Amino acid sequence: MGTPEGAYTPDERRLPSRPEIGFNSRMSNEQKTPPRVGFVGLGLMGYPMARNVARAGFPLTVYNRTRSKAEALAGEVSCVVADTPAAAAKSSDIVITMVSDVPDVEAVYLAPGTGIIHGVWGGMVCVDMGTVGVACVRNVAEKLAPHSIGFVDAPVSGGSWGAESGTLSIMAGGAKADFDRVYPVFETMGKKIVHCGESVGDGQKVKLVNQINIALSVEAVAEGLLFAVKTGANIPATLDAVGAGAAASWSWNNLGARMAGGDYAPGFKIEHLIKDLRLALQAADAVNLSLPGVRMVLGHYEKLCEARPDAGGLGTQALIEALK
Ligand code: NAP
Repeated sequence: MGTPEGAYTPDERRLPSRPEIGFNSRMSNEQKTPPRVGFVGLGLMGYPMARNVARAGFPLTVYNRTRSKAEALAGEVSCVVADTPAAAAKSSDIVITMVSDVPDVEAVYLAPGTGIIHGVWGGMVCVDMGTVGVACVRNVAEKLAPHSIGFVDAPVSGGSWGAESGTLSIMAGGAKADFDRVYPVFETMGKKIVHCGESVGDGQKVKLVNQINIALSVEAVAEGLLFAVKTGANIPATLDAVGAGAAASWSWNNLGARMAGGDYAPGFKIEHLIKDLRLALQAADAVNLSLPGVRMVLGHYEKLCEARPDAGGLGTQALIEALK
């Protein structure tokens, strides 16, 4: 396969001069010049993640489909706003994508003329951090492979609050050498960074395990709280005591009070969890596994979306509405 129109080879690549800053004390001497990072997708997750990358001192170029979000970030931290994903890739050593779903990942990487594939150059590394399943990231990695591009899939857990605080859990798949190159950038976004395997997609497999657990734990919180309300339990006392006992969970401690108070502002949108549960069921079907609990929770979310047209954009804690 030839170089796509507009793609850069290493020789053609024109590197802007890089700042000589010792931006991270944990870096080796060779790494003292920080890699330039491109960030595509500044939604609930991508915006605070990119902001943490910039705050750590990495030269940053950002692209967002709705340009105003990119301009808002440029008003907060030092970064350049690119006109296309391809332009963000052209001026970066590492390009990170954080968009919604499979067709969106395909669009930002492969769209004719504007996709990242038209800005890549041999030796750079692309990293997708969304939750999109194994097949999607392998497909994109295969399309990029003829251009000597490293590819790492690195989905995350911890919600928009974890993205804000730089405390995400990052589950990465891909060649260890590529993972190692991106690691200093991961350190700005996460507190737990795990190399899950040498194959692109190995991170996605682990992430779907996470989503299975998330779905069932949000269901548990919703059922428990509804039981508390209907039986007249003291709700603040319930939140406090259960949150410190054996039933404590991330979902209980982060979503319980919001659920009880009817605060359904999204940290993690229902439409994204539905996507994830469908990906998990697809993967489970392929190995003849039934996952009855996941099917049940998915059914509850689908029922809520049928009843309320706005439900997809609500936070996952709105599940309690489907059970009332
Ligand atoms: P979000 O708030 O809905 O943001 C989605 C981002 O993707 C926006 O920047 C959007 O651009 C961009 N986008 C969507 N479709 C696009 C397309 N076709 N072309 C170009 N850009 C496109 O989503 P999020 O919560 O940040 O989640 C992003 C990914 O991370 C999802 O895969 C999600 O499942 C996963 N995730 C989310 C959480 C969480 O707690 N939120 C946690 C872990 C993982 P616009 O601004 O123009 O709409």
